[in-house]
Amino acid sequence: PIEPWYFGGPVVKGFGRGSKVLGIPTANLSTKGYSTVLSEYPSGVYFGWAGLSTRGVYKMVMSIGWNPYFNNAEKTMEPWLLYDFDEDFYGEELRLAIVGYIRPEANFSSLESLIEKIHEDRRIAETALELPLYSKYQDDPYLKRSL
Ligand code: ADP
Ligand code: MG
Repeated sequence: PIEPWYFGGPVVKGFGRGSKVLGIPTANLSTKGYSTVLSEYPSGVYFGWAGLSTRGVYKMVMSIGWNPYFNNAEKTMEPWLLYDFDEDFYGEELRLAIVGYIRPEANFSSLESLIEKIHEDRRIAETALELPLYSKYQDDPYLKRSL
């Protein structure tokens, strides 16, 4: 377990390749406010809870890093909310409580192996977030402050 940490902001447009290329949409947050925050955390895959203003609180699994497969120049955080939404939610306020760490960032030789690994991460996150140790944070007031 790690000490939970919190971050939020409006959902912005990314490169559009999360859902289009991978079948895995990631809600991007503006990198302006958080590059210093991110530098404190090792690149890798984390999990936690995501609060969307007007909608609710959802499980999420998130990568932090440079996405070696895509050769990003900037360190980003890209939460995948583990829920089937009917529509996009660009511009909405997203609040994250990051409660656990799964694995370091890795490079993959193929897109298939990357996608397979992300789905494994998702299953780990889904299961871990049921544990009382982690599930309790879904009620964290930070996630619901503006709901
Ligand atoms: P972008 O590069 O603009 O972030 P993505 O392909 O990564 O585009 O898709 C992310 C967008 O899809 C989010 O900003 C959000 O509006 C929408 N979306 C729909 N379902 C989800 C989900 N389960 N998790 C994250 N984002 C989702
Ligand atoms: Mg994205």
